[in-house]
Amino acid sequence: MSILPVPENRFDITVPVVVVGGGACGLTAALSAREAGAEVLILERDATPQGTTSMSQGTMCGAGTEAQKRAGIDDTPEQFFEDVMTKVEGLTDPDLVRVITREAGPTIDWLSSEQGIPFEVDTSWKGLGHTVQRLHAPPEKTGEDLMGRLLQAVERAGVDLLTDALVTDVFADSNSRVLGVRAARPDGTTEDIGCGALVLATCGFAANPDMIAEFIPDMAGAHVFTWENSRGDGIRWGMELGGETADMTAFQGYGALAHPQELLFNYQYVIDGGVMVNRDGERFSNEVADVSGQGVNVMRQPGSVAYMIYDEELHNRYKHLHETREALDVGAIKSGVTSSDLCSSLDLPMDKVESVLAVLHDAKAGMAKDAWGRDFTGTKQLVPPYYGIQVTGALYHTQGGLTVDETARVKRTSGGLLPNLFAGGGAARGMTGPTCSGYIPASGICMAMTLGRLAGRGAAKLTV
Ligand SMILES: Cc1cc2nc3c(=O)[nH]c(=O)nc-3n(C[C@H](O)[C@H](O)[C@H](O)COP(=O)(O)OP(=O)(O)OC[C@H]3O[C@@H](n4cnc5c(N)ncnc54)[C@H](O)[C@@H]3O)c2cc1C
Repeated sequence: MSILPVPENRFDITVPVVVVGGGACGLTAALSAREAGAEVLILERDATPQGTTSMSQGTMCGAGTEAQKRAGIDDTPEQFFEDVMTKVEGLTDPDLVRVITREAGPTIDWLSSEQGIPFEVDTSWKGLGHTVQRLHAPPEKTGEDLMGRLLQAVERAGVDLLTDALVTDVFADSNSRVLGVRAARPDGTTEDIGCGALVLATCGFAANPDMIAEFIPDMAGAHVFTWENSRGDGIRWGMELGGETADMTAFQGYGALAHPQELLFNYQYVIDGGVMVNRDGERFSNEVADVSGQGVNVMRQPGSVAYMIYDEELHNRYKHLHETREALDVGAIKSGVTSSDLCSSLDLPMDKVESVLAVLHDAKAGMAKDAWGRDFTGTKQLVPPYYGIQVTGALYHTQGGLTVDETARVKRTSGGLLPNLFAGGGAARGMTGPTCSGYIPASGICMAMTLGRLAGRGAAKLTV
């Protein structure tokens, strides 16, 4: 993987805008560039585009949308900005956050009205940094559904998508102007494709252990649950071209991966009043203080596992969710008529869990303060029968990357902008600051589609 001078035989073909990576960012960038009048080619290394996006719950945050208005939710980009800056304790670039919080809502509206992807507000999520309900998703609330709908939109728009095309090298001149890329095909041949502008939509580096060890040494060897192609290719090309990076230590963690089944499980059960205990039957955190950081909290428990405990009312409330159906199918969710039955199924110390439930009862009844500082307002008492699931923590995706301007064009380390290089999604710096605790829910897809739309538009502007 490297930066090369112009190939001897020039290029096999030349396309005004080339997008590397066919996840949420790349597909959105292509739709946007096409709408702006540019011919676009997406190069995707997999036979079927899926990416990290397909593993997600397909939810994206955005403010002031038509969907929010339909749901009677009053929200503004300014409020969204305040929420992000509060969550990240100011430790990020306010200019980037201004751009994203201003453009995310219009991106959702545009995807709904112009690209045929019907987003609605997911009212089951609340809090965790967002002061109003602003998570949006297409009907199925899965990343696979979102990818399917984006791919249909790309086809309708007449965008060319070349799959089984692993981009291995970028051609550039001495001023770091990108001239094209080289794509390797499964039969061992390569194609050199020229372009007027390049959009890097290759996601982050969660699947690259060397980059994790280099940039997030604390997480070296940690459990990673991500798309295997998130190897940081785009970030490395950008860096080689003189692009600036920031917050390379940042990542999103998650503490509710069904274990050992490796299935994403929904956190709603905890948000709405469930608790988490470790193998010793003890609580170990305020479960809702930092959902991303909870991933690291769980990793630090004995055996790197924890147990979500909730009741039948919560089970019934969310049993229709895709993640719950999957977990039920593989028998990951256990239940017990009494707490001791549940403890037997989960192999947990009964006396400890019963004492956790008793203390929880008092905290919810307002008779005692929660030792972990959790506010249980608005949640109901847990009553038998009980439900539980063994989970583990994992690093989901990295949040550091190339820094970009308001058109998603990559900034130079030496000041100014690279001539025709754009980045979005996991390849770009997120708005979560330098740690795992600044991640505000649904900002991964938000960064992918919002920056994707800006990048596509910006790239097209340079070429048409
Ligand atoms: C389990 C899980 C759940 C999540 N849930 C949510 C959620 O509900 N909401 C949210 O906002 N975020 C969520 N996230 C984060 C979110 O999925 C990502 O932030 C987002 O999908 C990134 O989009 P992307 O387009 O940048 O990357 P991707 O979707 O990963 O797309 C990148 C594409 O580039 C391709 N590629 C990489 N290198 C090359 C190369 N050299 N040549 C050609 N192609 C290449 C890959 O194959 C891939 O298809 C979740 C993440 C995980 C792991």
